[in-house]
Amino acid sequence: MAYDSNNIFAKILRGEIPCKKVYEDDHVLAFHDINPQAPIHVLVIPKGAYVSWDDFSAKASADEIAGFVRAAGKIARDLGVDRKGYRVLANTGADGGQEVPHFHLHIFAGRPLGRMVQKP
Ligand code: 5GP
Repeated sequence: MAYDSNNIFAKILRGEIPCKKVYEDDHVLAFHDINPQAPIHVLVIPKGAYVSWDDFSAKASADEIAGFVRAAGKIARDLGVDRKGYRVLANTGADGGQEVPHFHLHIFAGRPLGRMVQKP
């Protein structure tokens, strides 16, 4: 799938749409999800134009990948959720339930999160 620069996270990166920012560096932006599914629900996105986890893992540079993974861990620690625990999730593609076609990690925390995947 080609990257669509009109997706909502691309607009957030360009500052065309506001977000509640949690963290930013050269490679990464993180902000609160607009429709939180847990007491803490933060989205972590790369600044590069990657559609999905599949696209990012295949095409991003080593610096981008390392920076992204390091940032996601730091964000969780800065949120203070590392002690009680949290969940990191990357919905990928249609069966993965991905709605926004710019790669993002969800960080969920603030309550026991239950089993990994809901049964249909
Ligand atoms: P996906 O299903 O693609 O993994 O998740 C997309 C997430 O983006 C959803 O949890 C949704 O609530 C969030 N989202 C969609 N539009 C916006 C927005 O304009 N601002 C923010 N902060 N989150 C959004």
